[in-house]
Amino acid sequence: MAKKNNHTPITGITVSKEEDFSAWYTELINKAELADIRYNVKGFIVYREWATLTIRKMYKKTEDLLERKGHLPLTMPSLIPESNLLLETQHVEGFAPEVFWVTEAGSSGRLSERLALRPTSETALYPMYALWIRSYKDLPFKRYLSCQVWRYEGKMTRPFFRGREFHWIESHNVFATMEGAMEQVKEDMETTYQILQDECCIPLIFFQRPEWDKFPGAVHTYAADALMGSGKVLQLPSTHLLGQIFSKPFNVKFVNKDGEEKYGYQTCYGPAQSRNYGAMIAYLGDDKGLVLPFDLAPIQIVIIPIIYKGKEKIVLEKAKKVYNLFKDKYIIKIDNSEESVGNKYYYWELKGVPIRIEIGPKDLEKQQVIIVKRHDGKRFEIKESQLENKIDEISQSYTNEIKEKSLIDFESQVECVYEKDAAVEAINNGKIVCCGFCSIDMDGYHCAEVVEKEIGGFVRGKRVDEEKHEFATCLICGKPASCTIYIAKSY
Ligand SMILES: [Zn+2]
Repeated sequence: MAKKNNHTPITGITVSKEEDFSAWYTELINKAELADIRYNVKGFIVYREWATLTIRKMYKKTEDLLERKGHLPLTMPSLIPESNLLLETQHVEGFAPEVFWVTEAGSSGRLSERLALRPTSETALYPMYALWIRSYKDLPFKRYLSCQVWRYEGKMTRPFFRGREFHWIESHNVFATMEGAMEQVKEDMETTYQILQDECCIPLIFFQRPEWDKFPGAVHTYAADALMGSGKVLQLPSTHLLGQIFSKPFNVKFVNKDGEEKYGYQTCYGPAQSRNYGAMIAYLGDDKGLVLPFDLAPIQIVIIPIIYKGKEKIVLEKAKKVYNLFKDKYIIKIDNSEESVGNKYYYWELKGVPIRIEIGPKDLEKQQVIIVKRHDGKRFEIKESQLENKIDEISQSYTNEIKEKSLIDFESQVECVYEKDAAVEAINNGKIVCCGFCSIDMDGYHCAEVVEKEIGGFVRGKRVDEEKHEFATCLICGKPASCTIYIAKSY
């Protein structure tokens, strides 16, 4: 007989995601060994192997896509002189409270100028851009860097979602015209859909953020919000139209075709890989643990040999044969550890491995194996002759199946409301509110404060992909509505 699973497996998740998302997420992080929060600098965490493997795959996909769209990679120093940071007023005001400063070095003591650990790289890059960009022939100038940034975050931190150090990609681009820059913003939104929605299966809506909630130093900010369950949203990558706000103080100029010197129009885009990872595992995970898209799983197929006394050899031989069949095509592993079969199932479900192949002596007699899909638990008895086809078929449809499930979910979370009381009720019921609003310029700021205090949600902004606008008045002040906005709780 196989070893019996006599006790509750130590690896299973005990909290239901629906009942207590926070506790569920914490348990997922700990039990699936994704991060370790015991590193002794507050807000700084260790990303464990299983998370790092997937995050590296996410980096690779995003970098490849950016390069296909004409961006080139750069590596920049992580320290920025204070004098650089001070060049753009709004930017420095926005970031100053969150900067980590390096003030001393070695035995020589205090530095003559403070150095910021980059909170973002505009002020590191643009002085260099001013040296590199000369003529219209250098434009568009599209670069990106994959790096860490540091921000002294005041809000409560949560592994991957929010911390004081995060891992991201930032792309910084210069164009000859405002239209060129706006096209880049649209391209960035498309890139976000390609990575976050198509690869990570996270449903998104892009919002133009209100004036009071944009990136410090941007003309406009366009940010993707993902629905995280219980009506809360999480801000994912945002792309910023910077116009000439930075190019003027940083002297990012070019000579146009007529020989005139002009300031460039800029954009920047910052997909945070760590946060995207957090959003993905939080969104897709279930009460058994992680659910991962096929391409992003550190291991895609696990083979569990079901060992009975006297049959060890033939079962293991078969497992090895199946392993060899797929090892060049997929990331596959045989689990021949000492754990009970039940514990192995729990463990690999917790880790989100997309496909499990079970091989036992009875299956061998019938010349078949059992295949179980992680995301929906579907189980198939497959004849050995059909195995290769079946695995190829599952691997190709797996990610799409997850995506289809998650996309349907999204629209059902939105509720259109015409009165404040209905908005309060909708937010309390875990919905995202859609309503009329006076303005997302500074004129609407007062109404946004009321939304926050009395409705308990945040104005996420105007949906970028939505033309329709059917509300006559602002939900709060009753003045004519200039736009349709969305209100949600956020992480
Ligand atoms: Zn209003």
